[in-house]
Amino acid sequence: MEEIRNVVILGSGCAGLTAAIYAARANLKPLIIEGHEPGGQLSMTTLVENFPGFPEGIQGPELIDNMRKQAARFGTEFKTGHVHSAHLGSRPFTLNLGKEEIKTRTLIIASGASARWLGLPSEHALIGHGVSSCATCDGFFFSGKDISVIGGGDSAMEEALFLTRFATKVSLIHRKDSFRASKIMLDRAKAHPKIEFITNTVVDEVHDPAQKEVTGLTLRDLKTNERRDFPTSAMFLGIGHIPNASMFKGQIDLDEDGYIKTRDYVFTNVPGTFACGDVQDRRYRQAISAAGTGCMAAIEVERFLEEHGQ
Ligand code: NAP
Repeated sequence: MEEIRNVVILGSGCAGLTAAIYAARANLKPLIIEGHEPGGQLSMTTLVENFPGFPEGIQGPELIDNMRKQAARFGTEFKTGHVHSAHLGSRPFTLNLGKEEIKTRTLIIASGASARWLGLPSEHALIGHGVSSCATCDGFFFSGKDISVIGGGDSAMEEALFLTRFATKVSLIHRKDSFRASKIMLDRAKAHPKIEFITNTVVDEVHDPAQKEVTGLTLRDLKTNERRDFPTSAMFLGIGHIPNASMFKGQIDLDEDGYIKTRDYVFTNVPGTFACGDVQDRRYRQAISAAGTGCMAAIEVERFLEEHGQ
């Protein structure tokens, strides 16, 4: 007979693993499907100092590995795969993984949002060593240093303003001279004495992967095409995130940027399908808030199955 799972969890970041710990301890034998970024964004960071319970901080990969072991200990199964499409119109739901189909009574979507990067090899080599997409997480490490922020939207303004707490100077580098940021955020950043704006400029190179730290950038002025070396100790990206929810388009309500719309924290418009973590949260994007909604999603799955006599 075809197997029908109680719950499938998409994603093995902080939200997915927390949901798995709760679901596994409720004897639901969850299956986690993990894709091309197992462990999510935490697995790409270095020291995490704001996750409660670790007074000295903990390395992101170690934290996620601990969560994984905790989920496995209570019987979570893991599968590597990529969900191409889903049929959520009737229960059990069907997930299509290419060669395989999985049927499940409930679904927790914890597939996260991927930070948008510039796409330079030198940038990639320095992620976690001075290149970061999270000022809240990593700003503290650059106290007393000069910091660069890339982007011209609210995220970049917010990061730049936040980083003034630590930095001697924040250089906000943007490829245009017009900004997507809201007026209030832009005005606040412009008025800040520690923030300088460098516009019509892109980053061509991040130095220096050989030293395993950021020592500077090669900037290019888009008007003159002139390149120059620009010393800095860190580069923070504020150029947006891409929620990993496009496979649910047309099945689940998404907002205009592709984030899953939720009500009461984790409920999607499809009964039995819940969403947690960054795939539905564009506001907080923290490991602890992702874990919190992962817990909520698992508890709602338990209740849903109970209410439906399963
Ligand atoms: P966003 O508004 O889409 O802005 C992204 C910025 O990054 C744009 O300035 C864009 O430049 C630039 N960019 C994109 N790709 C780039 C690339 N490859 N190289 C260089 N620059 C690049 O994204 P966001 O700032 O993350 O904001 C997303 C949403 O969340 C918005 O609705 C925003 O209002 C909201 N948000 C609100 C707050 C707040 O209210 N506190 C804080 C954060 C975010 P171009 O303009 O040239 O395209």
